[in-house]
Amino acid sequence: MTQRQKTEKKLDDIVRDIIKKRDEKRGCITCGQNCALTTGHFMKRRHLATRWNLTNVNGQCWECNSKDDWEEYKAAMITKYGEPVTESIISLARLDIRFTTAELEEKYERLKSIHNF
Ligand SMILES: [Zn+2]
Repeated sequence: MTQRQKTEKKLDDIVRDIIKKRDEKRGCITCGQNCALTTGHFMKRRHLATRWNLTNVNGQCWECNSKDDWEEYKAAMITKYGEPVTESIISLARLDIRFTTAELEEKYERLKSIHNF
């Protein structure tokens, strides 16, 4: 694994832990089911600008996550955050943002200190 891949993995892991803790009581963003949550990305992980964005990532049950129904997720996003926020996430995801590994490390440290991990 390259340093870059290690840093990306660390970020994926901390975001998963933060989301699980945050959404535990709320249940799956799409069906509301209270079960073991997975990290569901509204805009896919390949969009680096929103991959570790805590609004873009929400607790989702395994079924909804694997069903991968974007329109359904979008409706749930609008219910949870409102339309303007949802649209801003879509626009942000489409920006071609390239983070350096150092910037990703900073992002990781910031998340870690804010969320007490
Ligand atoms: Zn669900």
